[in-house]
Amino acid sequence: MKKIQPNPASLDPQTLVVHDEHDEVHYGAVTMPTYQNSLFTFPTHAEFDAAMDDGRGRFVYTRGNNPTVRALEQRLAALEGGERARCFASGMAAISSAILSTVRAGDHIVCVDQVYGPAKQFMSTYLKRFGVETTFFDGTSVDSLRNAMRPNTTTVYLESPTSMSFELQDIEACARLARSRGAVTMIDNTWATPCYQSPLALGVDLVVHSLTKYIGGHSDVVAGVVVGSEERMERLNADEFMLLGGIMTPQSAALLLRGLRTLPLRMEKLQANGFAIARYLEQLPFVAKVNHPGLDTHPQHELGRRQMTGYSSLLSFETKGVPLEQMRRWGDALAYFRIGVSWGGYESLVIVSRQNEAQKESAFVRTRLYIGLEEPALLIEDMERAFREAGIH
Ligand SMILES: *Cc1c(COP(=O)(O)O)cnc(C)c1O
Repeated sequence: MKKIQPNPASLDPQTLVVHDEHDEVHYGAVTMPTYQNSLFTFPTHAEFDAAMDDGRGRFVYTRGNNPTVRALEQRLAALEGGERARCFASGMAAISSAILSTVRAGDHIVCVDQVYGPAKQFMSTYLKRFGVETTFFDGTSVDSLRNAMRPNTTTVYLESPTSMSFELQDIEACARLARSRGAVTMIDNTWATPCYQSPLALGVDLVVHSLTKYIGGHSDVVAGVVVGSEERMERLNADEFMLLGGIMTPQSAALLLRGLRTLPLRMEKLQANGFAIARYLEQLPFVAKVNHPGLDTHPQHELGRRQMTGYSSLLSFETKGVPLEQMRRWGDALAYFRIGVSWGGYESLVIVSRQNEAQKESAFVRTRLYIGLEEPALLIEDMERAFREAGIH
């Protein structure tokens, strides 16, 4: 049987995700089988002992290691250019475990202010109970990060672009600053995916993803991953991974391995679709701003070109002088956009802002769009019709 042993560093992402290393154990199966078992057994106690003493390398119990999950971890580590990955039950399990692996009571975290909501809550509220404090900084300014850092800062948490306002951080500059102060840098790379942004190469220590989004790609699995160096990952593995136990199931790993096959292919189409919609929105008279870092009107467009090789298809826009209720009627009138959170699947999504105090004071309404795999001309037609029906012009 043919043995393909690609050197991951030498492969483009699409080739990387379609080639597996096969061996006799799997009978040449073209996809990695789903090892739906909780435990692994041994013919002798000597072999059992050897496996127990080599906890990382060997399969003993699925809370620690499972072949299907490991196949996915190896693939994700290769895609991110990291030494090791560990998969979790959700993006939040990955995020909370990664953060916990870098702090103890009395430590301080600095985090970008527009960060994903539950991650913000975990740092600002939950960790406070354990004596860990967090300061939030303006991600568009490295000086703001510098000013927020304290002697006891152990962790700098980034998310670039952020997933509501699509602001970027200068990843290399932030990581360099953190490193010079002895702090670990981690980043949520969910938006850009490993196809379009490689934070480890820019000096970041740990990369986290919600695999629920683009990497899963089919809105049928909730999962997360942390990627980093062998040394950093071993610490996280021994403590947060093994003790908190928020592991990925083998079935989820199998779905994710399937999703990964087409990730680069999907991202290309999604990127094109996202740009088409962003450019359409930009020329509407009642649209004040389109938040998409790939547009040359984005204030950090140049930074984006330096640190990303492409753009995904989650964006937001702000309408001016249109009452919130009218924008919500527009959202309801859309035929091809479903109303819902999450993103990264095949289907387009919309969320018009909810009524809140800040919104009442503002002349702007923010709408987030996830552009899926439908033809962009059809999506534009749908939006135009809905604008007419909602009386917006
Ligand atoms: C969805 C999301 C998460 C959380 O991931 P879950 O899989 O839902 O736990 C984290 N970061 C970003 C940017 C997300 O969009």
